[in-house]
Amino acid sequence: MSTPAEPLRRLADDARARRVVVVGGGVAGLVAALECAKVGLSVTVLERDARLGGVLRTAEVDGLALDVGAESYATRAGVVRGLVDELGLADAVTAPRPAGAWVAGLPGGGAAPLPRGGILGIPDNPFAVDVRRVIGWAGAWRAYVDRLRPPLTIGHEHSLGKLVRTRMGPRALDRLVAPVTGGVYSARPDDIDVDAAAPGLNAALTRTGSLSGAVAALRAERAAASGSTAPGGAVEGLVGGMGRLVEALVARLDALGADVRTGVEVTALTRADDAWRVEMADGEPLEADGVVLATSEPVARALAAPHAAALDTTPARAPVVEVVTLVVASPELDAAPRGSGVLVVPGVRAAKALTHSTAKWGWVADAAGPGRHVIRVSFGAQGEEPATAPLDDDGAAMLALREAAALLGVELEPAQLRGAHRERYVQAQPGATIGRAAATAAARAAIAAVPGLGAVGAWLAGTGLAQVVPDARAEADRIRSSMLWRGTAPEA
Ligand SMILES: Cc1cc2nc3c(=O)[nH]c(=O)nc-3n(C[C@H](O)[C@H](O)[C@H](O)COP(=O)(O)OP(=O)(O)OC[C@H]3O[C@@H](n4cnc5c(N)ncnc54)[C@H](O)[C@@H]3O)c2cc1C
Repeated sequence: MSTPAEPLRRLADDARARRVVVVGGGVAGLVAALECAKVGLSVTVLERDARLGGVLRTAEVDGLALDVGAESYATRAGVVRGLVDELGLADAVTAPRPAGAWVAGLPGGGAAPLPRGGILGIPDNPFAVDVRRVIGWAGAWRAYVDRLRPPLTIGHEHSLGKLVRTRMGPRALDRLVAPVTGGVYSARPDDIDVDAAAPGLNAALTRTGSLSGAVAALRAERAAASGSTAPGGAVEGLVGGMGRLVEALVARLDALGADVRTGVEVTALTRADDAWRVEMADGEPLEADGVVLATSEPVARALAAPHAAALDTTPARAPVVEVVTLVVASPELDAAPRGSGVLVVPGVRAAKALTHSTAKWGWVADAAGPGRHVIRVSFGAQGEEPATAPLDDDGAAMLALREAAALLGVELEPAQLRGAHRERYVQAQPGATIGRAAATAAARAAIAAVPGLGAVGAWLAGTGLAQVVPDARAEADRIRSSMLWRGTAPEA
């Protein structure tokens, strides 16, 4: 007679016998691997680079360990925070200082605080003092025309750029909205889908009869839902940097017996005898019952294409960005003259945005000490090579220093530069660009139709940890369920 524990033991043995290979050790791959390892599957992670984490990257600059890729996560729905807590990092959670961002590149080289009462930079009140400071009286009156236009002309606009230009005019578009979409999505407003970037805005527009009215209504709704009046999306970071999330994920995977390998490039997936063969640039292929692709979009599409006939392999237009992290000696910056960072009116300067990390994060300021500052300068956007691309590292550091001085409104001489680090990223095409939702839905469907194959990552989920983490969990759940129950006969 079997004891009650036996079926459970058999299930556990069954799970251990099922092998999952996760290709790519960025946050999406590590989270998917964790979800599979948790239920006892045999998990192997194969990462091409020498280190794990993908865009969650840290580097030492002038003796400071700093985030040089993602530096925070959106608190929306608490999904990333849930993972942080699960991994035992709750004590490291920290909020940015409420310094606010600025916008630079205004006529005459000016800069002003980014108005607080908007959505994607669209103001709820064109005559608010902080809005007028950016777009001037002429811009404010033109934006106010939005209130006077008949509601019947509104319709349902897909392009954010077209919507704002039509209703509020070019100044509101160029000086308020374009810096935000450039900073957040590395994309122009014309390419952003209103429904994807600001769900509910079009409906509120029809309801209220104006764009500024719609922004006000939507902000009120969001505040009521979240209990917060924080401008834009609230974020959190980790004391010591987001690299700690990667370390904690890897430690948990180790504890669960997963095999996590670096320096392994997966080159092809083939099928043999009802199992996957995962081919690598070096070494023997691995056999697996399930594969989760957690790479960039072109690699994932190329690996899956031979098995998913419906999968489109036309390369997407992926923005390339370079982030130059500077450590400078500048007591002048102790006063945080431009808040936590600066967004730039596109086309006016070489840099696209800047984060004054020592003004934004208390832990970075504590580590740097007074008079020493960390500044991250970003270059590049969709359809536009980063201005640093043709330069060597020293040249990129000098350009970043000049841009930082101009954007922060202080003198920064080369002798004040203590250290610099440059990193290049090919970003996933933002999920909020027009046509993107349909393209990713088609890719998901094509991949899901292949038994034992899954895909995760920013190219499918949308940019940002708050999108990537829950999506990776959901996809891993789909794959692990299909593997756990495959061929399992019900207990007699
Ligand atoms: C500069 C920058 C700053 C950002 N800041 C923030 C932020 O502050 N907050 C936020 O929420 N989001 C931020 N993001 C976005 C966020 O970091 C990403 O959405 C997320 O990290 C993507 O994770 P991923 O696992 O999908 O991709 P990746 O991190 O790109 O991981 C993919 C991995 O696959 C590996 N790989 C590729 N090909 C192969 C192969 N053939 N074989 C094996 N391995 C392979 C790669 O080496 C890589 O490690 C930022 C993005 C950038 C570029």
